[in-house]
Amino acid sequence: MLSFAGTFVFVATSAPAADVGPAFYGDPPDEHHAWAVHDRNRPLPKPVTPGTFSTPDQPGKPPADAVVLFDGTDLSAWVTGRGQPAKWIVKDGYMQVNGGEIRTRREFGDCQVHVEWAAPAEVKGGGQGRGNSGVFLPGGLEIQVLDSYDNPTYADGGAGAYYGIHPPLVNALRPPGEYQVYDIVFRRPVYRDGQVLDWGYVTVFVNGVLVQDHTPLEGSGGHMGRTRPGPFPEKGSLRLQDHGHPIRFRNIWCRELPPRTSQGGTDGYLTPEAAMAKRREIAASIRADADTLKDPANPVPELLRRMESLVYESDPATLAAVDRLNAQYLQQIRTLPPAKLAQKQGELKHLRDVFRYLARWKILPATYGPRTDIDQIIRDQGWDKRKKG
Ligand code: MG
Repeated sequence: MLSFAGTFVFVATSAPAADVGPAFYGDPPDEHHAWAVHDRNRPLPKPVTPGTFSTPDQPGKPPADAVVLFDGTDLSAWVTGRGQPAKWIVKDGYMQVNGGEIRTRREFGDCQVHVEWAAPAEVKGGGQGRGNSGVFLPGGLEIQVLDSYDNPTYADGGAGAYYGIHPPLVNALRPPGEYQVYDIVFRRPVYRDGQVLDWGYVTVFVNGVLVQDHTPLEGSGGHMGRTRPGPFPEKGSLRLQDHGHPIRFRNIWCRELPPRTSQGGTDGYLTPEAAMAKRREIAASIRADADTLKDPANPVPELLRRMESLVYESDPATLAAVDRLNAQYLQQIRTLPPAKLAQKQGELKHLRDVFRYLARWKILPATYGPRTDIDQIIRDQGWDKRKKG
């Protein structure tokens, strides 16, 4: 549970600073992390209105940021392999395999895919010959669609298999006739300077049950042949297989995901070079904000913001500005009549906490002059003494 009240009392009067920082709270940025722990400068996740879950009779609604690929009404998002209008049957909110494989007009890279499908309630055939279709991801790998409920087949070809490569961890299928729900996370390979850092991963849930757990990509997989990791396109269509069986699909959508980078992600555990580059960027934006807070009558908001920027990047110009602002502030404090000084108790104690934080992490020296001065003022005023009675 996050709790700022009580541990993070911000006394400065400047409205923006109170909301956006400073980050004098958790462990500071380090070699691999551009952000402090609980860093209030860190951008908040974009709100996304979630969808609803499907019931046996009713498909759910996609999340607000999803690209809707089939909502039960038409095939406008799909074409045949040759780019012609798709011919699958659309009826009663589902589409049914007919006349060849189809692919999405739109292409995707890293993505989250949601697909629901149902095999005919009347069972015909067995093994791979019963309720077979498939969801092909960019790069050609197939997440197998098969009525493998009480229908043994080879392990790497059952429902939820990365076909020809990796069996599902468990068989979580419902009986034929019922809709099955696939949720797939596809992660492309990551390259640096033309070299592959990793080949990417696929994660699959079948009816909410994890069946592919961050399984490494090994190429397209396929029937009988062993494939090797190979080139994956920047983006590609999603495809649905026509294996000659009347599989029905409903509620298909895809969310585009930010690609992973060769620097270890854009916002998590970074290489030292990427972490420092990001820290410099954050520091520059805080300094730019500090420029807007200049106020000779009240130097504290600008001072706090500039000291905060030092947490991300130490630079001589900022250190000099911090010295100047501290001197200016202390001069104001020392000329206050006692009644006015008493009103500054919270502000001075907050500054003391900030100096302690900066000293603890060696961002400013423990013997930093203004820190010593502020400690002295607090002692002289007796503000740390317990009230009697
Ligand atoms: Mg198949």
